[in-house]
Order: sequence, then structure tokens, then C-alpha cells
Amino acid sequence: MMRLLVAFFILCLSALPAAAQSGQLSLEGKPIQGGLMRGKTAPGATVTFDGKTMRVAEDGVFLIGFGREAPAEMTVEVRLPSGRALTRTLQVEQRSYDVQRIDGLPQTMVTPPPELLARIRSENAEIQRARDLDTAVPFFRSGFIWPALGRISGIYGSQRILNGQPRQPHYGIDIAAPKGTRVVTPADGVVALVHPDMYYTGATIVIDHGHGLTSAFLHLDETFVEVGEIVRQGQRIATVGSSGRSTGAHLDWRVNLFDIRLDPALLAGPMPKTGAEEASPASAGGAKATAPGAPAPRTQ
Ligand SMILES: [Zn+2]
Repeated sequence: MMRLLVAFFILCLSALPAAAQSGQLSLEGKPIQGGLMRGKTAPGATVTFDGKTMRVAEDGVFLIGFGREAPAEMTVEVRLPSGRALTRTLQVEQRSYDVQRIDGLPQTMVTPPPELLARIRSENAEIQRARDLDTAVPFFRSGFIWPALGRISGIYGSQRILNGQPRQPHYGIDIAAPKGTRVVTPADGVVALVHPDMYYTGATIVIDHGHGLTSAFLHLDETFVEVGEIVRQGQRIATVGSSGRSTGAHLDWRVNLFDIRLDPALLAGPMPKTGAEEASPASAGGAKATAPGAPAPRTQ
């Protein structure tokens, strides 16, 4: 009887590889506009998403991202080293975005003077080069934390209408915090760009988290890292400022998967309470960082 049981057990075990075969594609995270998912497949597999081939790490880990206007249905296609194809259709949660009208801005803030166009173009190209990096090291495995704590004064996706003129949606998350507040890297990575003063974004840092995933930190005051430096999650990289086109001290944090703009808030999860909020609950969500009637610190 015992021998029969053992034989049965062995039989069950030998059936396992076939079951694992169908599990050669797993995805974690939520398919939602602005969201990022981490996939795992067989090492050596090819992954195609939205017409692009995504980098697959040696152990089969890969990333896929959903832009602000990602369609309601998207498909991940995987070709295993054996030649077998797997597909997974994702229902992408659709979001609605608010519209922010900001009037009375100096016109040069809304439309830059022509003599600055060359400077702006070259700065944009510099940021673009950092976002185009396709680094093999999957630094993003560290996961994400908030790079600074404070009141959220601007969210991902909002459409901005400046002095009545529609402008690019806001792709970052604005965290209002006093000038000099510590900014840490939300995930491991390698520093891809440090610029002391860009026209729009002021003192700017871009960190490459691998596989085309980058974080940008805008309107900084001081910066403490250099291009090429490897940084670890939680390491201080800068302080909050109001440099560039900004209406007050805040950190604008942006996350891209190459050209796909992601919502940083979805990566970092709920923000932990700051010491100040714990000490004085009345100020939570209030306009502590701004004088009454003053514009919320943010970028246009
Ligand atoms: Zn912003």
C-alpha cells in the first residue's frame, strides 16, 4: 500500500513540468493607464508588446508599461526558446483626467521667447537621450519608494490650459515640500543625467533603473550625484527646490518606460505619513506649504 502511495506521488511529481509549461508567462502589477507591469517568462524568450520587442533579463524578467491613453485591450506576445508562442490579452483600466486652468501667467511662461527655442530643444534632446537608454541591469527589482514626502500638489495626467491655451498634460507627480527637503532615489539605478539649470525643469536629475525605465527629478535645489554613479534605493541624491519653470518649492517626479509616460504614484503606492502630519493631523491635506490664495507649488 505504502509503495503504491509513493508510486502515485512520483507520478504526480512527474506531471508537474507540463503544468509549469503553461505557467511560463506570469505578470504582476495592474494593467491600468499609467501603470507598469513586471513579467516573468523563460530565459531566452522574446517578448513583444504594443509592436515593440522588450528586453528580457537573463532570468526571464521583463517590463511592460501603459501610457496615459493606453487602449482598453492590449496583448503581450511571448515566443519561448522552444518556438512555442504564448499570448496574454490584458484589459487595461481606463482613467479620466482632470483639467487644470491656470490663468494670469506671464506670457513668456506659456510660450517661450523665440531666442530660447534652441536652448529648449537641446535640453529636451539631452533628456530624450537619457530616456532612450536600454540598460541590461534590472535595477528596478529594488521596487519603488517615494523620493520625497509632502503634500501632493499635482497629479499624473491632468490636462493643463495655460492662459486659455491647451498645453501638454502633466505627466509627473508634484510633491510640495520646503526648499532643502531631502530627495532620495526611489529605486536602484545608475545616474544618467545631471543638469544644473534647464529652462523648464531647472536643476534636473535622471536615474536609469534598467530596461528603459527612468525616473526624472525636476526643479531641484542642490544635487549630490554624478553621471555614471550607481545609486541604491533610499540614497540621498538632491534637495527640493523651485528652479526652472515652477511656482514654488516642490519635487516633480516623472517615470518613463522609454517614451511611455507612467504614473509614479502607481509605482510607489500610498505615501507614508510625514512626521509633521503625525504631529499635527489638522494639517494633513491642508495648504500648509502655501499661503492662503497662493498657487499650489507645481510646474505648468
Ligand atoms: Zn509638476
